[in-house]
Amino acid sequence: MKIYREKDADLGALLDKTVAVIGYGNQGQAQALNLHDSGVRVIVGNVEDESAEQARRDGFTVLPIAEAAARGDLLLLLIPDELQAKVYRDSIRSQLRPGQTLDFAHGFNIRFAWIKPPPKVDVIMVAPRMIGHSVRQRFLDGAGSPAYVAVEQDASGHAWKTALALAKGIGATRAGAIETTFAQETELDLFMEQATWAAVDRAFVLSFEVLVEQGFDPEMVALELYGSYEAAEIMAEMARTGFFRQGRLHSHTSQYGTFSRGPRVLPESFKRVLLRRLEDIRSGRFAREWRREQEAGYPNFQRYWDEALAHAINAAEEPGRELFGPGR
Ligand code: NDP
Repeated sequence: MKIYREKDADLGALLDKTVAVIGYGNQGQAQALNLHDSGVRVIVGNVEDESAEQARRDGFTVLPIAEAAARGDLLLLLIPDELQAKVYRDSIRSQLRPGQTLDFAHGFNIRFAWIKPPPKVDVIMVAPRMIGHSVRQRFLDGAGSPAYVAVEQDASGHAWKTALALAKGIGATRAGAIETTFAQETELDLFMEQATWAAVDRAFVLSFEVLVEQGFDPEMVALELYGSYEAAEIMAEMARTGFFRQGRLHSHTSQYGTFSRGPRVLPESFKRVLLRRLEDIRSGRFAREWRREQEAGYPNFQRYWDEALAHAINAAEEPGRELFGPGR
C-alpha cells in the first residue's frame, strides 16, 4: 500500500487556482472549510436553499452550479452519488475546458461510466474515509483524516500533483493518503456494503428471529446482539489490537466456542456466495439495477425500508438505549 504524507504533497499546486465545491453538504462543507483554512481560494456551487445559506454564513461566495463549474479550475463534485450524473449533464459538462480537474469523493460514477468526462480534463479522486464532521473536526484538532487518492485521467500531466495538493488541503496527508484506483475504491466499498455488512446485518436479524421464536425475551436479545455496545466495542478493539488478537479479551469458553463453531455457521462454501456478490458489482449488474430503481422512483428501496421499520427488532431496542445510551 502506497501512503503519501505531508512531505509528498505541495499545496502550491492549488494556490493560484480556484476550487469550486459543488454541493455544500456533509463532505462539501468540511472540505470547503478545510481548504479555505489551508489558504486555498474556494467558491461554492449549490442550488438556492438552506445549504447555500449555510455556505454564505461560513463566508463563501455561492453561485449557481453551472457558473461555479465555469469559474473553478478544480471542481469537487460533492453531491450524492446517485444525483451526480444528472447534475453533471445539466450544469457541468458544457462548462468544461482544458486545464480543469474534476474531483470525486467516491469512484462510483466513473467506475460505472454514469459520468464520462471529456479527455481534455483531469479526473482525480480524494475520498476521505470518514464522515464530513470528522474530516472537519480532525483538521481543527491537527490530526487530519485518512483518504484514498486516485487519478483516472491525466490530461495535463500533473493530475497527481493536484490530487495530492487537494489531499493536503483537506488535511488528509497529515494522517496519510492511500493510493488506489477508482475501480478498486468503488468495488471495495460496494463489496463491504453488499457482502460483508449485508452478511453481518442478516446474521443479526436471523439470530434475533431464531432466539425470539425459541422463547427468548426480544429486549434481552436486542441488548445482547448490539444494544449493550459490546459488539461496537469488539469492532473497535479489532481495529486497535487486531482481528484475532482481540479474542484474548474474552473468556476461554467464548474463544473456543467462536473458533470451533464458526466454520459450521459459515462454511468455506460461503466464499462462493461472496464471490458472486463481487461479480455482481464488477459486471455492472448492481449498478444497472440501482439505476433502474432510481428511474422507477425507488419502489423497492421504499419497500425494503417499510419492511425494516416494521420488524419486531425496532420495538425491542428501547430498553438498551435507556440503559446503555450515551451519557450513561
Ligand atoms: P450530501 O448528501 O451531504 O450532499 C448534499 C449536497 O448535495 C447538498 O449541498 C445538496 O444541496 C446537494 N444536492 C442534493 N441534491 C441535489 C441536486 N439534485 N442538484 C444539485 N445539488 C444537489 O452528500 P455527501 O457529502 O454525503 O456525499 C458527497 C460525496 O462524498 C459522495 O460522492 C459520497 O459518496 C462521498 N463521500 C461521502 C462521505 C460521507 O461521510 N457522507 C464519506 C466519503 C465520501 P441542497 O441540500 O442544498 O439541496
